[in-house]
Amino acid sequence: MKHRPISEQLYSEALQHIVGGVNSPSRSYRAVGGGAPVFMKRAQGAYFWDEDGHQYIDYLAAYGPIITGHAHPHITEAIIRAAQNGTLYGTPTELEITLAKMLKDAIPSMDKVRFVNSGTEAVMTTIRVARAYTKRNKIIKFAGCYHGHSDLVLVAAGSGPATLGIPDSAGIPISIAQEVITVPFNDLPALQTALERYGDDIAAVMVEPIVGNFGMVMPHEGYLEGVCKLARAVGALVVYDEVISAFRFHYGSAQTFNVFPDFQAIEPDLTALGKIIGGGLPIGAYGGRKEIMEQVAPLGPAYQAGTMAGNPASISAGIACLEVLQQPGLYEQMDRLTSKLAVGLRQLAKQHDIPLTVNQIVGSLSTYFCDHPVTNYDEALSSDGEQFARFFKLMLEQGINLAPSKYEAWFMTIAHTDNDIDATLEAADYAFGKINNN
Ligand code: PMP
Repeated sequence: MKHRPISEQLYSEALQHIVGGVNSPSRSYRAVGGGAPVFMKRAQGAYFWDEDGHQYIDYLAAYGPIITGHAHPHITEAIIRAAQNGTLYGTPTELEITLAKMLKDAIPSMDKVRFVNSGTEAVMTTIRVARAYTKRNKIIKFAGCYHGHSDLVLVAAGSGPATLGIPDSAGIPISIAQEVITVPFNDLPALQTALERYGDDIAAVMVEPIVGNFGMVMPHEGYLEGVCKLARAVGALVVYDEVISAFRFHYGSAQTFNVFPDFQAIEPDLTALGKIIGGGLPIGAYGGRKEIMEQVAPLGPAYQAGTMAGNPASISAGIACLEVLQQPGLYEQMDRLTSKLAVGLRQLAKQHDIPLTVNQIVGSLSTYFCDHPVTNYDEALSSDGEQFARFFKLMLEQGINLAPSKYEAWFMTIAHTDNDIDATLEAADYAFGKINNN
């Protein structure tokens, strides 16, 4: 058992001053049995060092953005240069044009782009713009998909046929939640039923083209094409939330990722971005078809603004991050390592007689303690949370830092090595053995 007296001490202090001791609820260990979260002091490449001096291999990657590994020198230099030139202007800069062009080149469905400060803001604004453009109010989202914490998308997942929304958070009026219809992912008939019932009122269908929020889940072949066809048939826009997926699987986004023959043929009307495109600094962006984006102020009636939006530090870090990702071979390397990890985890679980489903997509994977495939939220829900919690703690004790939730993905970076994967599999072997003995 690792002793972490400094983390314990900092946590009790944090609890006195910061609500719940954390600045985002996913950082708390409540979902894995509680206790003090590890307070990290430093990160470099694929590693973390905590306040008590322990080293960890990091698979959290800050919930996705840190694809280059921590403190990548090219990004660090860009941030220092930006800071030396002043971090915030409140005027346009050439840097913003550079990053906008890089995004447009990589994601051609975005004729026009606007930078914001988080994925939440990006998604929230795509909804406003879709409503302004279609002059309709309702949206459809998919059960279990997280789209940030704005009112409209914080609606509980319901299984079965389309259900009218119930807010997932106090403080959201039921009148707002009623504007959201939730249907199961990977289920076209359910979407069709919802669209038959509410089609004329639907401004947008909001979807993560490859899901990252109940683990990593691929759409069935032809599913996204079906979503787009059904939505467009009733005059609704299609919004892709690519906050996790953009630049995670290749240099581009899920909509430009050639997983199925039909995949690239499908272009959303609007796309929301965040995470990786800021290279580890706060950012979000949204973009889409010109005539839709022209709804946005100052050209159109949909208002959206931001004091910090497009700040030179975030934009510089984003440009530097994308420059790093343009180097050949990086995604292939992440794919190879993640696949080795996925195969190894499946084999070890089998040896220890532990039901485990591992979904892997290039440099991301998720583990579900269950004996069935996971293709939608209900299947993810039914995986064993207590077993995951034991696994999480046993891995942490051995210096492997995972997200403290059975729903979160493991993310690979370009800094991880074969040695890291070998060490992780060794730790998993031990953890699976212990889980079984409990
Ligand atoms: N959309 C998706 C798909 C996300 O995964 C997240 C964050 N995990 C968000 C939106 C919200 O982004 P942010 O935390 O930057 O507000």
